[in-house]
Amino acid sequence: MDGTNLTTARLDIRDLHREFGGRPVVRGVSLSLQAGQVTGLLGPSGCGKSTTLRIIAGVDQQTSGEVWIDGQQVAGPGVFVPPERRQIGLMFQDFALFPHLSVADNVAFGLKGSRTEKRIRVHELLEKVGLARFIDSFPHELSGGEQQRVALARALAPRPSIMLMDEPFSGLDNRLRDGIRDETLGILKDEGAAVLLVTHEPEEAMRMADEIALMRDGRIVQSGAPYNIYNAPVDLKAAAFFSDVN
Ligand code: ADP
Ligand code: MG
Repeated sequence: MDGTNLTTARLDIRDLHREFGGRPVVRGVSLSLQAGQVTGLLGPSGCGKSTTLRIIAGVDQQTSGEVWIDGQQVAGPGVFVPPERRQIGLMFQDFALFPHLSVADNVAFGLKGSRTEKRIRVHELLEKVGLARFIDSFPHELSGGEQQRVALARALAPRPSIMLMDEPFSGLDNRLRDGIRDETLGILKDEGAAVLLVTHEPEEAMRMADEIALMRDGRIVQSGAPYNIYNAPVDLKAAAFFSDVN
């Protein structure tokens, strides 16, 4: 391999495996993400979703397999590009903002460039998430949903090529969740990142993803458009897993 690759995918995972103490947890996952697309990595708790995401982010390492971002290998035999050089935005359930920094400084945190450039980008993102009026506020002055939107702005600020989201909405009130999902989706589409959305909730994947990869016991057992998977689940287990969507 010469370090380049002919596909146009933003993210390519090839035959990824991860074992913990000899126990296989990720067992041959392959996946491609395109710009502007949301891919839902959907499956029950414990099936290996977060482990996959952590390897893509570079905070864990595979037992075997490869990860490519924008045509560059970032993980593989003898290859390890550190997380901060992977052009990735991250959002987790406990998306903790820096409590001692203002909203503006939280969003600017990972940004490089001149003060003016940073200020323009921070304004642009806070406008997008509808929180421009909170620019000088501190996290504790914001509601959970508002903090969530600041976390989204912070993750998107450096224009990541890939956005990795691990159950980003599960800490939120049911009442807020649908609205924030829709709003988040609009912003993600507008920014054009390739998104990997990890979730154990079929409804969330159905609502947000262009493509769903259904994971079970460390493997992707089915992938395709949400309604195709919903209407034609690969087996009884998949059907049962989807049966609580309404
Ligand atoms: P999911 O995100 O789908 O719920 P995870 O990827 O978090 O699943 O975990 C998959 C399995 O791997 C679980 O059984 C979990 O206990 C195990 N696991 C995850 N991380 C570690 C670790 N650092 N050491 C040992 N086992 C782990
Ligand atoms: Mg998880």
